[in-house]
Amino acid sequence: VTNESQRLRIAIQKSGRLSQESQALLTSCGLKINLREQRLIAHVENMPIDLLRVRDDDIPGLVMDGVCDLGIIGENVLEEMSLQRQLDNETYDYTVLARLDFGGCRLSIAVPQEENYGGVKNLEGKTIATTYPRLLNRYLKQNGVNARIVNLKGSVEVAPRAGLADAICDLVSTGATLEANGLKEVEVIYRSKAVLIQRRDLTDSTQLKLLKKLMPRIQGVMQANE
Ligand code: ATP
Ligand code: ZN
Repeated sequence: VTNESQRLRIAIQKSGRLSQESQALLTSCGLKINLREQRLIAHVENMPIDLLRVRDDDIPGLVMDGVCDLGIIGENVLEEMSLQRQLDNETYDYTVLARLDFGGCRLSIAVPQEENYGGVKNLEGKTIATTYPRLLNRYLKQNGVNARIVNLKGSVEVAPRAGLADAICDLVSTGATLEANGLKEVEVIYRSKAVLIQRRDLTDSTQLKLLKKLMPRIQGVMQANE
């Protein structure tokens, strides 16, 4: 018999680019999930597991604070949150259990197409709009560039046209969005995939046993997809 608190809690994105494949991975591992359920918590019928379906931005914090046991999240969001928590002196512990085979994208700097870009030094003194200020700041520091960072939560790609920034730092997969906004990719600063993470202090033996059963299945699903 498993009591409520022993149920393994897995945080996944509710709706967005990671949600379908996160659910598919768990389903392939044998979890019976009621996909019609639009609620925050979905109880897995055949295992002591609950799925928490949230905004992707909330997933790293839920795991780092130990509120959820596992999470599936893009490395870009995870690393940004981790850097922010380090600066704020908050807990930022987690363990990566697996790098997954979906959610691939890159965080890149893009400038107006007509600009004559000759290298990272060209960004000196410029204003760059991004949703990832910590990752961008780390990159600029590593390259000895002083630039102003404007933190935008959305519509980053229109910032140069709107006169809010000289350049942007945003997620790219095909580059079509950049092109549609008259921008070109000039520097890749981070390559990301989805990862399965675990909270650091998972010690409950029932939960650990379940995790030990799940991990080979996850590896198996990924090998089958290769
Ligand atoms: P939420 O409503 O959950 O906050 P969101 O709009 O912030 O969702 P999505 O656009 O669904 O996020 O992207 C989630 C993650 O998918 C990204 O953080 C990234 O890791 C990954 N991803 C893969 N390809 C892309 C892409 N082309 N553009 C943006 N994100 C991508
Ligand atoms: Zn988000």
